[in-house]
Amino acid sequence: MSIGTGTGMGMSGAGGTGRHAGERLVVVGGDAAGMSAASQARRLKGPAELEIVAFERGHFSSFSACGIPYWVGGDVSDRDLLIARTPEEHRARDIDLRMRTEVTEIDVAGGRVRARDLDSGAQYWTAYDKLVIGTGARPIRPELPGIDAPGVHGVQTLDDGQALLDTLAGTRGRHAVVVGAGYIGVEMAEALINRGYEVTVVNRGREPMSTLDPDMGRMVRTAMEGLGITMVNGAAVTEVLTGDDGRVRAVATEDGEYPADVVVLGVGVRPETGLAEAAGLPLGAHGGLLTDLAMRVRGHENIWAGGDCVEVLDLVSGRERHIPLGTHANKHGQVIGTNAGGGYATFPGVVGTAVSKVCDLEIARTGLREKDALRAGLRFVTATIESTSRAGYYPDASPMTVKMLAEHRTGRLLGVQIVGREGAGKRVDVAAVALTAGMTVERMTALDLGYAPPFSPVWDPVLVAARKAARVVEQQR
Ligand SMILES: Cc1cc2nc3c(=O)[nH]c(=O)nc-3n(C[C@H](O)[C@H](O)[C@H](O)COP(=O)(O)OP(=O)(O)OC[C@H]3O[C@@H](n4cnc5c(N)ncnc54)[C@H](O)[C@@H]3O)c2cc1C
Repeated sequence: MSIGTGTGMGMSGAGGTGRHAGERLVVVGGDAAGMSAASQARRLKGPAELEIVAFERGHFSSFSACGIPYWVGGDVSDRDLLIARTPEEHRARDIDLRMRTEVTEIDVAGGRVRARDLDSGAQYWTAYDKLVIGTGARPIRPELPGIDAPGVHGVQTLDDGQALLDTLAGTRGRHAVVVGAGYIGVEMAEALINRGYEVTVVNRGREPMSTLDPDMGRMVRTAMEGLGITMVNGAAVTEVLTGDDGRVRAVATEDGEYPADVVVLGVGVRPETGLAEAAGLPLGAHGGLLTDLAMRVRGHENIWAGGDCVEVLDLVSGRERHIPLGTHANKHGQVIGTNAGGGYATFPGVVGTAVSKVCDLEIARTGLREKDALRAGLRFVTATIESTSRAGYYPDASPMTVKMLAEHRTGRLLGVQIVGREGAGKRVDVAAVALTAGMTVERMTALDLGYAPPFSPVWDPVLVAARKAARVVEQQR
């Protein structure tokens, strides 16, 4: 192992690259946030003005973890379809992306990072004028007996996805247990069903999809049970049991044992901010980096952070939250790259929109759940309606439930949750726009949404919910 000692601009890597005339931007993390930032900065400034060096400790750059459930499930045939831009493609755009290289220290006072080549073990310092932190999030891996047994898988990276596919190809048994019933858990349940497995989902919460209120989560549970999935709710895994061959054979909870030839973990993530914390950068209550509107790390003029490693402002509650989603990471990267490239852009915050599905059941939410509104000290009313995806008389109209929260007296929209079949999920986007615009539910009822029988009833389900919510607000004034 060698440690390069260079701290100047000319000692950027093993062997150094000679003094560069312009500034150097260093990026830590080679996926959505980091490489969006690098790419956008490169669009604004050529290599003579801005040198860009990016470090990624994994095997892949700019890949879609979001696509892993569909690749594992067989909807996406090839891993490489999930790679938006390879390291070679980044390098062809004059971004010096160093793969399998981990940044192990940020020296804020010295304006440099220390990196380690994971293959050779060589370490070296690289100086920066501007730094972007896009280190993402770390999957939670509960410390349980047997958790590291062969056959237990996370699904965070393409390597994880390949390892899971290898296990599926190598096991004759057909029992799968998914631990966790958030959106990754339910998407992986679908993937395993598509692969012909008998799936059990073990979930700590009362209902699946804790991003919904329990009454809406119950509908998801009923639908999942209808798909043949065994739902074990309100149960914590106590142990992963192994057979004589050392491989997983079952998952145990306090109440029972569930046979498993393969186990998939989907129990959430935490911001990957150990590096930032050690460097003395500010973290929030959820462990994510704190930034200003320009995604600049608070108190640091030349350091930006984005994606799963930061906390975001919830525009509805006014509180900081950690919401690890690719849609935010890409936008953060765009904003950071614009600013690091000499332009100006801001990321105002989020309203908490998310959409997912399990088989043909679509699940969507935006804004606050009841418990979020209570926590934020807001008084609210709720309205839940049943409607259909198309005009009732049109073929294949399918049922849809919309729940809406509005502020007591003012009628300001606070949140929407939708569970239904084809066409249900993306309807939440109308509500996300209304939330962003600060609309009241009464104002929403007059929205000029498109209508024809194949697309919706004459009153779109979101508008039906808004009408009902507006009536409740009026009655309680
Ligand atoms: C199975 C699954 C499904 C998902 N589905 C959706 C979806 O449908 N919609 C949605 O919006 N989001 C989804 N997401 C979330 C989305 O993938 C993430 O929010 C997004 O990838 C975050 O991007 P990021 O760049 O912040 O972090 P990451 O994608 O985690 O990238 C961070 C990178 O930094 C690297 N790194 C970390 N520390 C270091 C270091 N010290 N040195 C060098 N490199 C380092 C890591 O190796 C990693 O490649 C899904 C995630 C998973 C796992």
